[in-house]
Amino acid sequence: MITLNQVTKRYGEKTAVDGLSVNIEPGKVTGFLGPNGAGKSTTIRMILGLDVPTSGSALINGKRYVDLRHPLREIGALLEAKAVHPGRTARNHLRSMAKTHGISTERVDEMLGVVGLSDVAGKRVGSFSLGMGQRLGIAGALLGDPEILILDEPVNGLDPDGIRWVRDLMRALAAQGRTIFVSSHLMSEMQVTADHLVIIGKGRLLADSPMEELIAKSSRQRVKVRSPEIRGLDTLTARLTAGGANVRWLGDDELVAEGASPGTIGDMAFELGLRLHELSPMDASLEEAYIELTAQSVEYGERSRAASPLDTFTEQKAEVGL
Ligand code: ADP
Repeated sequence: MITLNQVTKRYGEKTAVDGLSVNIEPGKVTGFLGPNGAGKSTTIRMILGLDVPTSGSALINGKRYVDLRHPLREIGALLEAKAVHPGRTARNHLRSMAKTHGISTERVDEMLGVVGLSDVAGKRVGSFSLGMGQRLGIAGALLGDPEILILDEPVNGLDPDGIRWVRDLMRALAAQGRTIFVSSHLMSEMQVTADHLVIIGKGRLLADSPMEELIAKSSRQRVKVRSPEIRGLDTLTARLTAGGANVRWLGDDELVAEGASPGTIGDMAFELGLRLHELSPMDASLEEAYIELTAQSVEYGERSRAASPLDTFTEQKAEVGL
């Protein structure tokens, strides 16, 4: 369990994290989201003891990181662009980590296998692609068999197979009862990976909620309606609009109604004697919910970037030197 208790971090005049209180619980994948500059990296750095809170606390199983007796065995972390000596081989990199933390060399080989790097274990890390570097970082995070994992943008640079592999790995680790705290700017990926979400904006908590609840609460329901009776659809549209729903036509015989449930629309169609060929709720997306929720928290000039799923995360991480 990770416990943030009224944690605040100020850099001079700038408040990067502002009285954040949240528990990151075991047995779940918790997604960590927020626009650029929201304070995600600063929060992660405080959890890992790389930054000291101005006030409040960030605790791992009730202790500060610096007070953990065997940090790698309790918490594993993948940070972006983590410095790895480029001249070292993957195996030697992990062996040196293992050695300083009393972890066996067998465990190193096992983890190289788990992340799919056994064949290139003897290669220099400097020759690795971004995706291979991420796999090595994940191996490092798993080395001490920790109960808690923090993964910052873990799918960065991975191909679709790699992305699925990371997703399955996180889900499997959570199912074993571990605490998985993961940041990602890829909303669609987060939607299928996380059970729970913590969203921050301008250093403050915006949401701490199960994925399903968040999407259901923030999104207006959209329903697709199709009928071969065009005039009947016109009448239905008039009724729906009068009832406060928005209607958008997709073609001559189909439309999307926003703000009315399938039940309401079905009843209306029945009363009108309108034959329907389709009446289907459309999936609400995390991305829509996220944009709605963070609209007020995006720093000036950031909206278009923050709203894009292809956010420029490299830039934001470079800012804090992670
Ligand atoms: P995120 O990871 O969500 O993009 P950060 O934690 O990197 O956000 O940054 C939060 C805010 O704090 C930003 O406005 C950033 O510019 C500022 N900040 C972060 N680190 C420092 C630092 N070392 N010195 C001064 N300001 C910083």
